[in-house]
Amino acid sequence: MRRPLVAGNWKMNGSREAIDLLLDGLSGISTTAEVAVFPPYVYLPQVVSTLCGSGIDVGAQNVSEYQAGAYTGEVAADMLSDIGCRYVLVGHSERRSLFGEKDRQVAEKFVASQRSGLIPVLCVGETLEQRASGKTLAVIAAQLDAVLERAGLESVCNGVIAYEPVWAIGTGKTATAEQAQEIHREIRQQLGEPGMKTRILYGGSVKAANAAELFAQQDVDGALIGGASLDSDEFREICKKACVAN
Ligand code: PEP
Repeated sequence: MRRPLVAGNWKMNGSREAIDLLLDGLSGISTTAEVAVFPPYVYLPQVVSTLCGSGIDVGAQNVSEYQAGAYTGEVAADMLSDIGCRYVLVGHSERRSLFGEKDRQVAEKFVASQRSGLIPVLCVGETLEQRASGKTLAVIAAQLDAVLERAGLESVCNGVIAYEPVWAIGTGKTATAEQAQEIHREIRQQLGEPGMKTRILYGGSVKAANAAELFAQQDVDGALIGGASLDSDEFREICKKACVAN
């Protein structure tokens, strides 16, 4: 039985005050799903300290592939672990498309995260153009393969995978529940038997209104949520649906 995970990626949003308000809105959240939030780096200590004992986990949105040293501006996995993070996003499509992260670098980040005791949430997904030209499965298989080759099957299966079609992120266009299930099933098949324990999240314009249908799919084990995670009422509602549907 895979416990659903509802993960809120706050991206580059917030201020100390706004985050206090958002966290206030999440207090006493009632769900049997696991919940995690991913604030910008500088607010991690504030969020870790406020959420201590709440049952809500904290993750970072990115991590360096290097362990320590002369890498100005980078943040090491050990540091994230040291301040109380449990999760870290690796290979988010915005990192891939805007900051040029390639599969190999994503694989190094995945390995570095696990080495420090973090749980990486590996993001994979196709662009609209790739979908239109029938390359969806090949693109996702290649993204996954790069990490499988570097980290090994068992390590990948101990992480979390987030299927996020690029065309659905922040656009208001969600994959249908059937489209999501089809890709999630393919990902699980690629992982084979060890992948039965792996949580595969869907991400891309998830809201309270479409969450239940997505969560009802056999291979959808929760969601990675951007925009809607900045609204505590909406996020609470999504968390509730993860619990009801699973
Ligand atoms: C995301 O940033 O991972 C995401 C899925 O964003 P949104 O929910 O806003 O589409």
